[in-house]
Amino acid sequence: MVIFKDKIYLDTSKRVEILDITLEVQELINESEIANGIVNIYSKHSTSAIVVNENENGLLDDFENILSDIVPENNRYKHDTIDNNAVSHLRSLFLGPSETIPFSDKKLALGTWQSIFFIELDGPRKRIVEITLVG
Ligand code: ZN
Repeated sequence: MVIFKDKIYLDTSKRVEILDITLEVQELINESEIANGIVNIYSKHSTSAIVVNENENGLLDDFENILSDIVPENNRYKHDTIDNNAVSHLRSLFLGPSETIPFSDKKLALGTWQSIFFIELDGPRKRIVEITLVG
């Protein structure tokens, strides 16, 4: 078993922002010596998320809207009494901090309409995404 580890550094610019990081992940696979395996993409923050979905502008707006429907602002969250970002943590809870994706012959085995997204839920901030390849 071979393991390759690296990080992707992001500078987000909005409170809620959806960033396509597929190319960055693919570049790290290219740099590694592993041709076949799995890649884990892990966000080290509890107010962000990693998801796989389609990169279509209307759909990205829909994601943001459904997140505000599921977890609305200003709902008297207890965490807001110590840190004013309960809504960001709660939205992250529904999305999760990581995805694991197979790759073959150095290519991510994503479906035609799938991309990997980092979702900022409490920006703007500096963020670190940890990448672990196992093959
Ligand atoms: Zn907090």
